[in-house]
Amino acid sequence: MSERSADPSVETRTRHDQHGLWPIAETVEDFRRNLATVNARIEAACAQAGRDKNSVRLLPVSKTVDEARIRLAHEAGCLMLGENKVQEASRKWQAMNDLQALRWSVIGHLQTNKAKVVAQFASEFQALDSLRLARALDRHLQDAGRSLDVFVQVNTSGEDSKYGLRPEEVAALLRELPAFSSLRVRGLMTLAVLSAEPERVRSCFRLLRNLRDQLRQDRPDGIEIDELSMGMSGDYEIAIEEGATVVRVGQAIFGARSTPDAFYWPGASDTH
Ligand SMILES: *Cc1c(COP(=O)(O)O)cnc(C)c1O
Repeated sequence: MSERSADPSVETRTRHDQHGLWPIAETVEDFRRNLATVNARIEAACAQAGRDKNSVRLLPVSKTVDEARIRLAHEAGCLMLGENKVQEASRKWQAMNDLQALRWSVIGHLQTNKAKVVAQFASEFQALDSLRLARALDRHLQDAGRSLDVFVQVNTSGEDSKYGLRPEEVAALLRELPAFSSLRVRGLMTLAVLSAEPERVRSCFRLLRNLRDQLRQDRPDGIEIDELSMGMSGDYEIAIEEGATVVRVGQAIFGARSTPDAFYWPGASDTH
């Protein structure tokens, strides 16, 4: 079954040209409306690709958003939130631990010496990129009596500025992971090139899917690599066409960030 669009003359566009233009959500109603819009687009992209809409999970990304607005988003139905920086995530977790149902996913690069912080509160970590970090996370999780869903981050754009393993390094890390019983390996994560050219973005996503398909064939016992976390506000529809099972969407839900992309991805090109 083809996962590409049925009509090849209709190219799915990126929305990277909208950075800075997404309206700021300030009420529960705003959040409900934005979530409905994003969910409708996810559903349409799934239909286009011949996929079940329930095969894609929306992970709202709340980095830079203050507590008051996060509480509104939670009220509108956001039960798990993605944060790029661990200190910011940990601070928010402490401030909002009265919200029993709210869980946190850390989606940004983590230094090994901060593994303990993630082990304390996160439900999911999407930026695993070294054996050292896996070992540190597992040790702190054991101490805390917790476990963690993890995604291995892959650099699919070849840009030096992007974190993640090179595609050819992933198999070797996966082979080591069954030793860490507190880590539940779920799949792979990537950030595409921030480009307005859909084909360049698409080729990053396609690389991740092909890598997952190839790794799944001789995966180590106890490791699952079904999930593909790829796609953000500017490109999630293309990611879904290419097989994304998790899309990480911030600005299309919360509104434009004033922090430039380069703060999170040093050297991020401003081609959009
Ligand atoms: C910020 C961020 C996103 C979401 O980006 P938006 O443009 O806000 O949708 C996705 N993934 C990662 C790793 C991020 O840091």
